[in-house]
Amino acid sequence: MNLAARVTQIPTSLTLAISAKSKAMQADGLDVCSFSAGEPDFETPEHIKKAAKDALDQGKTRYGPAAGELRLREAIAQKLSEDNQLAYAANQIVVTNGGKHSLHNLMQILINPGDEVLIPAPYWLSYPEMVKLAEGVPVILPTTLKQNFKITPAQLQQAITPKAKLLVLNSPSNPTGMVYTAEELEALAQVILTHDLWVVSDEIYEKIIYDGAQHHSIGALSPEMLSRTFISNGFAKAYAMTGWRVGYLAGPLEALQAVGRMQSHTTSNVCSFAQHGAIAALKGPQDCVEIMRQAFAQRCTYIIERLRSIPGVTCPQPQGAFYVFANISAAGLSSMDFCQTLLEEHRVAAVPGLAFGADDCIRLSYATDMNTLEKGLDRLADFMKSRL
Ligand code: GLU
Repeated sequence: MNLAARVTQIPTSLTLAISAKSKAMQADGLDVCSFSAGEPDFETPEHIKKAAKDALDQGKTRYGPAAGELRLREAIAQKLSEDNQLAYAANQIVVTNGGKHSLHNLMQILINPGDEVLIPAPYWLSYPEMVKLAEGVPVILPTTLKQNFKITPAQLQQAITPKAKLLVLNSPSNPTGMVYTAEELEALAQVILTHDLWVVSDEIYEKIIYDGAQHHSIGALSPEMLSRTFISNGFAKAYAMTGWRVGYLAGPLEALQAVGRMQSHTTSNVCSFAQHGAIAALKGPQDCVEIMRQAFAQRCTYIIERLRSIPGVTCPQPQGAFYVFANISAAGLSSMDFCQTLLEEHRVAAVPGLAFGADDCIRLSYATDMNTLEKGLDRLADFMKSRL
C-alpha cells in the first residue's frame, strides 16, 4: 500500500512494544521481570476512582467542550500557579489524551515543514517521531554523563540555525533522571530569548524527585520567558493514572486556541468521566503523591546500589523520574542485542538505549515492586557476568 511518507518512517514506540511483549510473555506463564515502560505499579488512589465512578453514575457520559471541562482547566490553572508559579488562565490550557498527545498537538500547531526542533539527548523516544510527523527536522544535542546529561548554554547557542524554532526540555528527565537547577535554566533562558526560540517544558515527572532536588519550570523565570514557553504535563505518573489518558498543554493563548480548534476536528474531548477523576486528583488530598514518591525513592536507592555492584555496569544517580540509564557497553553488545538476549534468555525486560539516542546504555524503569527488582537485578548481574 502506498502509505503517506510521514508515517512510513515512524517506528512503533519501543517502550510500549517491549512492555506489551513482556506482558504477553507473562500471560503465557513465563516469569518475566519487567523494567520496561514507565508505569507506576500502584493503583490509582481510591478518591480519584470514586470521582470517576460518581461522574458515570451522574450521567457525565456525553460530549463536553473539545478543549476540556472548564472546571478541570480552572483546576489546572490553579495548580500551575500554586505549584509552579506559572500564570496561565483556563483558556490557555487544553486537556489532552495524555501528556504524549499534548506534545503531538504542539508539534502540529507550531512546526512548519523544515522547521528545526532541538532535542537534548538522551531523549524520550517519542519526541523526534512527533517532530517528523509534523514534517519538522529533529536536531539532536548529545550530552554525556560527564555533563550530567544536561545541555549547556554554549551547546544550545551552537545548535541554533535560522530554521531553529523549538527547544524540548524535559526535567526530571526520562530516561536519565537528571534535573535542571534554576541557575542552569536561567542560563538556557538567556539563549532562548536572544534567539526568539520557543520552548516546551515536559514536566510529567515533576512530582517524582529525590534527595532535596527541586523542580523548576523555565516559564517561571520571567514574564518574557513565560511568553515563549509551553508546559506539557499530565496525571499518569504523579497519580498512577497511566491508562486514564489525561494530560494537558498550557501556553500562549493564540497557540492554545489553535490546539482547541484542532482537537475539535480530531479527538474531541478527552473521556468525560476520566476528566472528573482528574479534577479529584488536583482538588483532593495530595498525600498519595508523597507516599508513591517515597516508595520510588526507596527503590531508586536499592537499584542504584545493586547496579553499581555489578562489574561492567555504570550509571548516573537519578534525581527524579523512575528510570536508571545504565551503561552496559562493557558487555560488548549493541543495546538492542543486549535487551533482546536479556529478555529471551534471562526473562528481564529493559529498553535499549538506542531508542533514546544512546546505544551504549539501557533504560530500567524501577516503577515496579521490590521483589521484581531484586529478582531482575540478580538475573541482570548473571547476564553481565557471562559477558565479561
Ligand atoms: N512514557 C513512558 C515511558 O517512557 C510510558 C510509555 C511511553 O509512553 O513511551 O516508558
